[in-house]
Amino acid sequence: MVYKWDALIGTLKRGFMEENYSNEDFIRLARLFLAPNYAPFPVTFDSASGSWIWDTDGKQYVDMMSGYSALNLGYDHPRIARAMREQFDKLSMCSRKFLSREMVLFAKELAEFCGMEMVLPMNTGAEAVETAIKLARKWAYTRKGVPINKAEIIVCENNFHGRTTTISSASSIPQYKDLFGPLTPGFIFVPFGDADALLEKIRRNTAAFLVEPIQGEGGIIVPPKGYLKECRKICLNHNVLFMADEVQTGFARTGTMFACDYESVKPDLFTLGKALGGGMIPISAVVGSRELLEVFQPADHGSTFGGNPLACHVAREVLKVLKDERIAEKAFESGRYLTDRLRAIPSPYVKEIRGRGLMIGIELKKGGPNAHEICSRLIQAGVVCSDTKEYVVRIAPALTIRKFELDWALERIEKVLTT
Ligand code: PMP
Repeated sequence: MVYKWDALIGTLKRGFMEENYSNEDFIRLARLFLAPNYAPFPVTFDSASGSWIWDTDGKQYVDMMSGYSALNLGYDHPRIARAMREQFDKLSMCSRKFLSREMVLFAKELAEFCGMEMVLPMNTGAEAVETAIKLARKWAYTRKGVPINKAEIIVCENNFHGRTTTISSASSIPQYKDLFGPLTPGFIFVPFGDADALLEKIRRNTAAFLVEPIQGEGGIIVPPKGYLKECRKICLNHNVLFMADEVQTGFARTGTMFACDYESVKPDLFTLGKALGGGMIPISAVVGSRELLEVFQPADHGSTFGGNPLACHVAREVLKVLKDERIAEKAFESGRYLTDRLRAIPSPYVKEIRGRGLMIGIELKKGGPNAHEICSRLIQAGVVCSDTKEYVVRIAPALTIRKFELDWALERIEKVLTT
C-alpha cells in the first residue's frame, strides 16, 4: 500500500506524463505492478545501440551482459534490423497447420549450419529443452524398448536448463523446485565434469544424458578437457542420447560456433535459443538426426508461435551474419584479449578468471564483497553485468564488441576491482 501511494504521488508530481518519469518512478511502478520473480538492479533502460545502452536518465553504459547472451550481434545489427523490418511487412505469423516459406528455409539452413538433419522450432530455451526431454522419452519407448513411464534422463548437478515445472524437477538447486512440486520424476543426477560418474549411473532405462558444455547460470564452469568427448563415447557405447544444451553457449559465444566444437563432439541433439533470434525476437530449436526427430508424430508436440515466419527470417539472417562476419573468430580473439587483461588486474577480491571466448566468469574470494555488490559498483561505474551465483560475476558482452569498447569497460572494471 505504501508503494502504491509512493508511486501515485511520484507520478502525480510529474503530471502523469510518462516522458517525465524518473528512474525512481519506474522502480516504484515496478514494485507495484511487476511480479517480484527477479531482483533487478535499480536502473531502468530505455535505448541501446551496438554494445551501448542508455538509462531513462540518459546515462550511458557499456553492456557486458548482452541480454543473457541473446545479443551476440549487439543491439541493432543493421542486417538483423533490416531482416526484421522486411519480414514484418511481408508475413509475421502463420498457422502451423500450414507451411511458410521462411519456416521451411530456416529449418533447412539451421540443419545444415549444425551439420544435422532436422529442426523443430520453438520460442524459448526452456521450450527447446522440454521438447528434447519429450523426444528422448518417446525415443526410449519406441526405439530402445524402455518400459513405458520408466525412462530416465541423466542431468548434471548445478545445471541450468530453464524454468518450467519439468525442467525445475531436473534441477539440483532447492529454491528452483522445493515449493513447486509435485515434481516430474525420471531425472538422475551426476556431478558435472565427471565422466566416470555418468558411466556409473547408466541403466537399461537410461534414455539420454542432458548437459551444458559449459555451465552458464551455474557459475561459468568449464569442464575438464576431454570430458565432453568421453561422455559422448559413453553414450554411444550404451545407446544413450547425448543432448547438448547450447542455448547459452551456442552461436559463437565461446569462440567456436558451438562449445561442443572444442572437443569435436557432435551430439545427437542440440537445444538452441537465445542468440538464434539476434536478441530481437525469441526463437529456439531442437536440432538432430532424422531418425530421432521423426519420433514425433503430428499433434505430439507444438507451439502457436514456434516457427513463425518473422522469427525464422531473422534467424536465417543471424546464421548468415555469424558466418559472413566470422563472429566465432572475433569472439575467440576478443575473449583472449579480455581474459588476459582481466587476469592482469591486481585485485584483492578476485579468486579466478575463467571461461571460453566471451563467456567469462570472475570468481570472487569469499569473505570480500560478493558478486551482487561488485556488479552494483560496476553498474554505477557504467558497466552492465550481472552476478551468477553468489561469488561469480558474469562477463558476456556482444561478440561484435570493439577493442576500444572493451578498453572502456576494462578501465572501469579495474577501478572497481582494485578499490
Ligand atoms: N538452457 C540454458 C543452458 C540456459 O542458459 C538457459 C537460459 N539461461 C535456458 C536453457 C533457458 O532459456 P530461456 O530463458 O530462453 O527459457
